[in-house]
Amino acid sequence: MVSIFQFLLIFKDIRGKNNLYEIYGEGGLIMKCYVCAKQGVDEEAVAICIICGMGLCLGHVFKEELLVRDVIDWGFGEEKITYPRTLPHFICAECKLAMEQRKKGSQK
Ligand SMILES: [Zn+2]
Ligand SMILES: [Zn+2]
Repeated sequence: MVSIFQFLLIFKDIRGKNNLYEIYGEGGLIMKCYVCAKQGVDEEAVAICIICGMGLCLGHVFKEELLVRDVIDWGFGEEKITYPRTLPHFICAECKLAMEQRKKGSQK
């Protein structure tokens, strides 16, 4: 996913240099927000859902922070580490709901 976000950043750069026509001319380079598009609204995507891959605008993207964990086996026992920095994770509403129902299911 990182490469796609880098691509979006680079793309923003190019647009800033007034190459709008050229970029549009290439065709298919601009990703639109899928949720907006379904409602007939023309909105550019700022992120992509990591699960289903739909383009999402700022109003429709959800950002989640995933914990970064490791289990280190010392030979005489395991140590579970949760690191202070979290991993950002962009997700759409539908996938968020699907993930949440799963989290609830796994909670005992
Ligand atoms: Zn949208
Ligand atoms: Zn999704």
